[in-house]
Amino acid sequence: MAENIFLEVVTPSKAVVSEEAQIVVAPGSEGEFGVLKGHTTFLTSLKLGSLRYKDSSGQERVVFVSGGFAEVLPNKVTVLAESAERRKDIDVDRAKRAKDRAEKRLSSGSADIDFVRAEAALRRAIHRLSIKGVA
Ligand code: ATP
Repeated sequence: MAENIFLEVVTPSKAVVSEEAQIVVAPGSEGEFGVLKGHTTFLTSLKLGSLRYKDSSGQERVVFVSGGFAEVLPNKVTVLAESAERRKDIDVDRAKRAKDRAEKRLSSGSADIDFVRAEAALRRAIHRLSIKGVA
């Protein structure tokens, strides 16, 4: 079997993942890409989505990423994300509250609303909920 690759996912406030992975699949801005040990070096931006990997025991893990950058080296993947959480750390109630807030802002029609920001918050909340299996 192929050797593992080292995966790090960090945000400005925390280290979210730092462990070996058998395979990493990430939401690149040009499309999802998979990385095994020995992959060619490249750098890409990421879009909001799910980063998936198999840990060293073969267990599939899912991590929310809000976007950011990934650096792929032959033996390491480093993801720098604005925000990221492991599936188990996603707080469903918090994401529901964030979704409600964003929806209210977007439907308020107020001139003071920053629509781009509210829409981005809504997309983050919806994706967090979808990772948790909440529609
Ligand atoms: P909120 O309005 O609830 O803060 P948000 O989408 O604006 O949501 P982010 O800016 O993406 O939040 O993240 C801020 C910090 O809070 C990050 O550290 C992120 O990991 C964490 N975070 C945000 N929402 C959740 C959640 N539902 N469950 C767990 N952690 C969360």
